[in-house]
Amino acid sequence: MNNNKYKILVVEDEDNISNLVCTLLEAGGYQVISAKNCSSGQMLYFSHRPDLIILDLGLPDIDGTELLKEVRKDSLTPVIVLSARTDETDKVAALDIGANDYVTKPFGSAELMARVRSALRTSRHSSGNFSNGIFEADGLMIDYDARRVFIDNSEIKLTQTEYNIIAFLSVHSGKVLTYSAIIKEIWGYNDLGSIKKLQVNMANIRKKFGAKPGKKNYIVNELGVGYRMCERS
Ligand code: CA
Repeated sequence: MNNNKYKILVVEDEDNISNLVCTLLEAGGYQVISAKNCSSGQMLYFSHRPDLIILDLGLPDIDGTELLKEVRKDSLTPVIVLSARTDETDKVAALDIGANDYVTKPFGSAELMARVRSALRTSRHSSGNFSNGIFEADGLMIDYDARRVFIDNSEIKLTQTEYNIIAFLSVHSGKVLTYSAIIKEIWGYNDLGSIKKLQVNMANIRKKFGAKPGKKNYIVNELGVGYRMCERS
């Protein structure tokens, strides 16, 4: 079983639409979490740090644009707005706040899936500036499209969290990323015990990478500061 999938948060209050979107995404190989209102959407966003958000604007508690603003304070997570509103000004406003795209209800399943793939592709490449979606450094190869990691051509099986850490470090390769920057990216805010979680994940990654003293290390622990991935070749 592949436990390393893109995680998508769906925030939509209408059951039939929410069910349809979730079913389509799951069939497409994505991991899906869903919320029926803005405040639980916000909670899920901070606790799960999804790779993409599909957001209805007309929600029962708070307008969906409030969640969009919250997300944009600290992240470039792609957001696709799902709206029944045909009013162009709503769409323009959502795009101005930082939505990546919008889909107007009713929508076709092929259209929605194409938008999802496109938003994920764009966010990957804009953050990493990699022309072909591949990171390579000294025998280490990361395929961002497939979310797979190889060392000397053999695949290293990573969990979702381990992969997210590696992908984040590789996008900023050569730079030290502080513990708190990594924690914020992977787990969000206010997560007590997350330093411990980061250390456990890093230990597992290093074990899987076969890190040995004296051998080349792809990830360097800058003690007391953070981690640095070697520069791409
Ligand atoms: Ca609605």
